[in-house]
Amino acid sequence: MATQSSKVGKELRGMIKGSVLIPDDPGYEEARQIWNAMIDRRPAMIVQCANADDVSAAIAFARRNKLEISIRGAGHNIAGNALCNDGLTIDFSNMKNVRVDAGKRRAYVEPGATLANLDEATQAHGLATPVGINSTTGIAGLTLGGGFGWLTRKHGMTIDNLVSVDMVTADGRKIRASETDNPDLFWAIRGGGGNFGVVTQFEFQLFPVGPEIFAGLIVFPFSQAKQILNKYRQFVNSAPEELNVWVVLRKAPPLPFLPEKIHGKEVVVLPIFYAGAAADAEKLIAPLRAFGDAHGEHLGAQPYVAWQKAFDPLLTPGARNYWKSHNFTELADGAVDSIIEFAGKLPSPQCEIFIGLIAGAPNRIASDAMAYGHRDAKFVLNVHGRWDEAKDDARCMGWARDFFKASAPYASAGAYVNFMTAEEGDRVAAAYGANYDRLVQIKKHYDPDNIFHLNQNIKP
Ligand SMILES: Cc1cc2nc3c(=O)[nH]c(=O)nc-3n(C[C@H](O)[C@H](O)[C@H](O)COP(=O)(O)OP(=O)(O)OC[C@H]3O[C@@H](n4cnc5c(N)ncnc54)[C@H](O)[C@@H]3O)c2cc1C
Repeated sequence: MATQSSKVGKELRGMIKGSVLIPDDPGYEEARQIWNAMIDRRPAMIVQCANADDVSAAIAFARRNKLEISIRGAGHNIAGNALCNDGLTIDFSNMKNVRVDAGKRRAYVEPGATLANLDEATQAHGLATPVGINSTTGIAGLTLGGGFGWLTRKHGMTIDNLVSVDMVTADGRKIRASETDNPDLFWAIRGGGGNFGVVTQFEFQLFPVGPEIFAGLIVFPFSQAKQILNKYRQFVNSAPEELNVWVVLRKAPPLPFLPEKIHGKEVVVLPIFYAGAAADAEKLIAPLRAFGDAHGEHLGAQPYVAWQKAFDPLLTPGARNYWKSHNFTELADGAVDSIIEFAGKLPSPQCEIFIGLIAGAPNRIASDAMAYGHRDAKFVLNVHGRWDEAKDDARCMGWARDFFKASAPYASAGAYVNFMTAEEGDRVAAAYGANYDRLVQIKKHYDPDNIFHLNQNIKP
């Protein structure tokens, strides 16, 4: 089957401006690598598009030849849906351009761009829009699922700042979606993932940020976890939205500012971000320093683009990864207890539990304003199972699943689709809650044959 489809793939070469890779081509193996090393899929052809016409041609070609379609932004999605087996992958590795109109405070972003590509282009003008915390993540997948990061408390989710998209639909049409053009489609793609068509350009609104911000880490002993988490949940209730503080529980990496004897030991880390002057930040974070007896800290003014890359060394591609996630409106006592229990039995040095704070601007948007509807969520918990060897799969995945179950009673309804694994298809309806029925209607209109189904699928 794969060989036959690959032969067909050669025909596509003459029809597009970009390139088509089939197995045995130089570059094919590299092109089928994605962030999560647990995913090992072999598309019959990888179509490295050069423009929207190539996308149209690839969709038509896949339909004619009855090939399954997958869409790859920057290949970070944990579920591995960027790739298919024996089908056609629409790959945006060669479409990473970001254009900034500083006067209008807008960025026009191609779908292969990473967060680093966007941040670097916008920061050249002292501008930014909220995106995630790992610079190699793709703008496309992140935006279509929601998108949150350090600026989210102040400026909202990534989708809250999306102005328009250019798309190619399942029937190959090139259309625009915004509040005024195809508004139903625009409603659906803001959280509905890659279910409705292929985005070939994103337009974002931008805000003045940095270029220098205040950020860094305070690292506390795990033995003080309970008092830190108790104080944290009180502190963030009244902290200004310019300040964002997350919590990470993990084994300490060999950071130079930590005593060597702490390396590899469980710790509680508070990553801190303040989009303003260092002197103001110092005053605001004084209470955080008093949460416990810190092992060490590394805090200060730094370029926004540098902080956006600060976690990259812990999140490199090539490891095996399995995630589970909950939203929380508050960190209840039971949630805190289960976090501490499972952080006390991390099954590998790379596993971690992180709590992202998104309380603020996202909560001021109505839950039916767009497909992403978790407007009551104040915290997003990510149980990040990460390890190197396949022999540890069952143990590490078991830990993540057990923790997910133990913390479930304290979670709010819904789930963040960008943190869901492939096996969580039965959570999709719950992930969209009351917005699901409208999404099904829009899916029926734009993709009745469900050709875009390698995603957290909304069935027409
Ligand atoms: C290390 C790491 C850190 C992360 N940190 C954050 C974070 O801080 N905040 C956050 O919100 N999320 C975060 N995420 C989750 C991230 O948002 C998702 O994994 C997202 O799907 C990644 O987008 P991508 O383009 O790289 O993924 P891909 O795997 O390339 O794409 C994911 C899916 O999106 C769809 N898609 C991609 N491109 C298009 C397109 N052009 N048109 C239509 N559909 C498309 C497809 O269905 C595809 O399967 C993180 C992920 C990782 C791995």
